[in-house]
Amino acid sequence: MATESADPASAQASPQGADAEPRTDSSSGVDITSAGSLTVMVNKHNPLDPQSYVPADLQEIEGHQLRAEAAGAAQNMLRDMRADGIDVTITSAYRSYDTQVSTYDHWVQQNGQVTADRVSARPGFSEHQTGLALDLADGTGCDLQACFADTEAAQWAVENADQYGFVLRFPEGQESVTGYTYEPWHFRYVGPDQAQAYQSSSASTLEEFYGTGPAPDYE
Ligand SMILES: [Zn+2]
Repeated sequence: MATESADPASAQASPQGADAEPRTDSSSGVDITSAGSLTVMVNKHNPLDPQSYVPADLQEIEGHQLRAEAAGAAQNMLRDMRADGIDVTITSAYRSYDTQVSTYDHWVQQNGQVTADRVSARPGFSEHQTGLALDLADGTGCDLQACFADTEAAQWAVENADQYGFVLRFPEGQESVTGYTYEPWHFRYVGPDQAQAYQSSSASTLEEFYGTGPAPDYE
């Protein structure tokens, strides 16, 4: 999931066959394999299928794009954060396969592949390519850094994002499961029902919630 965050400021074959039956989580029955599902699981073990996937319903939101349902939810969340006096912005949302090629290559050139893989997804493996993920920022100097966790924006989002259908996708201390270091700015839309069920569950990651197993590394 690429950078997952880390968008460089300057930059701007799946396991299942295409006609395989969608795999569903046994407890909830939600579709976690179809690229167009709001609950699709994307990580280092689960690339998008096809890897060149482009969402059909992208919608503009503050200079970025998200799938329509996620865009509406994000707009409401940002409105309510601002009503609470928080100066929040979106720093990244939908990224195409080709954009992810540039993003990932940037990190590989900066830091080498091992480090790049901890912070940036390879093309076809990025949650940003689903059109369901966004990175928040508040301009306090901690954008896309761990210290973003201490900002009002991050604390508000951690407490309230599930009400809008978003979950914190890469929690602290879960790199061995999610495959990525802590990203207090990266939120993933799964819909309010799923987000609230996740939030009230004992699961620490979406991988645990959907029972897919850890995805620490590319296979
Ligand atoms: Zn992100």
